[in-house]
Amino acid sequence: MRALVMEQGTDGLAKPEIKDIDEGHLPEGDVTVRVEFSTLNYKDGLCLSPKGGGLVKTYPHVPGIDFSGVVEASDDPRYAPGDRVVLTGWRVGEIHWGGYAQKARVKADWLVKLPDAISTRQAMAVGTAGFTAMLALQALEDAGLTPDKGPVLVTGATGGVGSVAVALLANLGYEVAAVTGRVEQEPYLRALGASIIVPREDINQPVARPLEKATWAGCIDAVGGDMLGRLLGQMDVNSSVALVGLAGGAAFSSTVVPFLLRGVKLFGIDSVTMPYEARVRAWNRLATDLPMGKLEDMVQTATLNDLPELGAAILKGQVKGRVVVDVN
Ligand code: NDP
Repeated sequence: MRALVMEQGTDGLAKPEIKDIDEGHLPEGDVTVRVEFSTLNYKDGLCLSPKGGGLVKTYPHVPGIDFSGVVEASDDPRYAPGDRVVLTGWRVGEIHWGGYAQKARVKADWLVKLPDAISTRQAMAVGTAGFTAMLALQALEDAGLTPDKGPVLVTGATGGVGSVAVALLANLGYEVAAVTGRVEQEPYLRALGASIIVPREDINQPVARPLEKATWAGCIDAVGGDMLGRLLGQMDVNSSVALVGLAGGAAFSSTVVPFLLRGVKLFGIDSVTMPYEARVRAWNRLATDLPMGKLEDMVQTATLNDLPELGAAILKGQVKGRVVVDVN
């Protein structure tokens, strides 16, 4: 089987190599999957980097935190040969071999059967990024967000999480405000459904005043850092922020005032260890609420050979939308 393998050199740095490896090298697991597609997320960029972003612990290693495909063999009664499955998270591609290969072997508990309405290719156009956008939306909805409450802010909007979040929210009738550092991508964001474009520099700044004009009914934040600190003061009364990422930095500084005087809530989203029932719920919602035509508009297709370059690009914030990797 062909795979992208990260091999550690004598200098301690890992380099990618595409090669044929024996299936016998696959890790232990209950289900063997013929991988059809994988994808590229920010974390994949880290796993493809020379030091593995601190995520990869042992080499040789096959990255790819997501994959979709067809079950080839299963020791678990929940799965049979021919079942279409998707995997995201559970540290696959980080500490367990992942989807950048023609086959993968994993624990049955980590898999989800794909809804009929989602093809294996579409599943990877969604990937961890899109799945997480749905989890974030559900967190906001569970806290009471509805389209009549006002505009919803999406940060890092041209990225993977952001693009899917914009398309989902717009399709459900929300007014979407997209924060981007790439204002030349305004036509792309408007085509996905954003009606307000917020230039990154307008909001990516330290907190000026504890409270600014109460503007956003909800927020899906893929950026963190200064932007998160600042946008908290712009949230409307009783609104919520679903915090997903740290593309702009891990540390943030803000004040307690938005929480105390406006009842703002801040939810952390962890897609990696999300329990099975919540995964099924999110994939079923993606099947009904994500417009597949818009999903296709945000996709570029790649092969295993393209991944080293794409991995470096996503770490620099230079990848637009979603990448589907055809591993065959
Ligand atoms: P992408 O790189 O595709 O998107 C991130 C976007 O953030 C970029 O496209 C860019 O959008 C913006 N951005 C990049 N750098 C900066 C910066 N320095 N300051 C402000 N904005 C910036 O990544 P993903 O969408 O795949 O992931 C986004 C984040 O979410 C990552 O931090 C990732 O690790 C995290 N994540 C977390 C998950 C979880 O379970 N919690 C799951 C999936 C992802 P623009 O150019 O439009 O401004």
